[in-house]
Amino acid sequence: CGVFGVIGVPDASTFVALGLHALQHRGQEAGGIVSYDPDRGFNSARHFGYVRDNFTSSEVIETLPGAVAIGHVRYAKSDQPRPTAIRDVQPFFGEFAMGGAALSHNGNITNANALRRELIEHGSIFQSSSDSECIIHLMARSLQRDIPSRMEDALRRVEGAFSIVAMTRTKLIGVRDPLGVRPLVLGRLGDAWVISSETCAFDIIGAEFVREVEPGELVIATREGIESRFPFRPRKPRFCIFEHVYFSRPDSILGGRSVYETREAIGRELARENPVEADLVCPVPDSGTPAAIGYSLESGIPYAMGIIRNQYVGRTFIEPTEQIRNMGVRLKLNVNRALIRGKRVVLVDDSVVRGTTSRKIKEMICDAGAREVHFRIASPPTAWPCFYGVDTPRRDKLLAATMSEDEICAHLGADSLKFLSLDGLYRAVGEANGRNNESPQYCDACFSGDYPVAPSDMIEQGFRM
Ligand code: 5GP
Ligand code: SF4
Ligand code: MG
Repeated sequence: CGVFGVIGVPDASTFVALGLHALQHRGQEAGGIVSYDPDRGFNSARHFGYVRDNFTSSEVIETLPGAVAIGHVRYAKSDQPRPTAIRDVQPFFGEFAMGGAALSHNGNITNANALRRELIEHGSIFQSSSDSECIIHLMARSLQRDIPSRMEDALRRVEGAFSIVAMTRTKLIGVRDPLGVRPLVLGRLGDAWVISSETCAFDIIGAEFVREVEPGELVIATREGIESRFPFRPRKPRFCIFEHVYFSRPDSILGGRSVYETREAIGRELARENPVEADLVCPVPDSGTPAAIGYSLESGIPYAMGIIRNQYVGRTFIEPTEQIRNMGVRLKLNVNRALIRGKRVVLVDDSVVRGTTSRKIKEMICDAGAREVHFRIASPPTAWPCFYGVDTPRRDKLLAATMSEDEICAHLGADSLKFLSLDGLYRAVGEANGRNNESPQYCDACFSGDYPVAPSDMIEQGFRM
């Protein structure tokens, strides 16, 4: 998901709509905005679909007046038992003794089922099926006298990953879990303050990047300035390494480095680890592009756009059903036949999850007359599900959970297939000595099975680490 908020500009919701539009890659299923205006109180709008289709008309924006607003873009969960209802779309809102508060959450609460049971037993009435709603009910039960302190109380009970943007009538609040799994950044727009999942959303509104919200930090922005608190027991941060590989936009800055640069370094590392004789390096667009450029630069094999992406289709993976996903690849990607014919092609993609994309692409490339197809994957095998907010399927649907590299290669019918090593990935994100196995620098659970927070709800349901 993507979260965004601003305080201190007239028509804050306009800026939120633009910010959410820049964060659309983090979730395309639905979006929502809440704003506050002293005369008209709290207002909200929630819609399925793209931000540009729902939040750009003046009719909608006029219903969201005020100088403080937050928003959310929602990432579809593919293994969900029921379709998303509009009441599951964030931001969530709660009315407390000291006034209202709204909240947008990116991440996943790993003890949400347990919390929900307990809260329901004590009288909470849930409106949605979302894990994030627990935070509102925990806040309602807190005895603290101000909203940020109630958030602290609530979030101390929450396990898992959270990057949160929240607002009251007079405050914009940002919080990051102690491990800092998901990103969150602070920016300045004139006298206004902005909080966003990624820096790319600052660029669209002309805001200046100030700094990252730190792991375990709660920041409060008001007209008076910024206050910073550290309400959690400090822990060594474990930022999501997959944000570098796939999730974040390439023009965003993560940990002081451009995501694009990191992805190019990933491609170079991949070429050093897994060279091959070939005529062309082609990305699987768009997610494989920077790594393919890196592979080409390092190997000296020319880069070419062997696959053309239809710009009017969203990210394949995010389409919630298997059927649409299968179709999706052809709707979205087509082979540049004239270029491919008779060539030995290196295909670079960021990851292999179910293998749907790679399998279809291999077929299309061969139909177009390629002589050889060599897959080079810009991350290690995805062998474990993510429980911290990236929607990987159940373990039995992950190709790499049951197949070796050679078996995956055979399954895809490719001439060769190689994944980047975990150490190679760490080197590419700037860790010269690779992964510190005693105390890993990142969360890499989807590759290593080393979960920095025990996924207690899942363990209760029989998941074994
Ligand atoms: P597959 O077709 O193997 O199931 O999925 C791999 C493709 O999905 C890659 O091209 C990757 O860019 C894309 N993708 C989109 N969202 C995700 C995600 O959340 N996790 C992973 N690992 N890949 C994703
Ligand atoms: Fe990121 Fe993978 Fe960890 Fe999920 S499991 S937070 S995708 S590194
Ligand atoms: Mg892709």
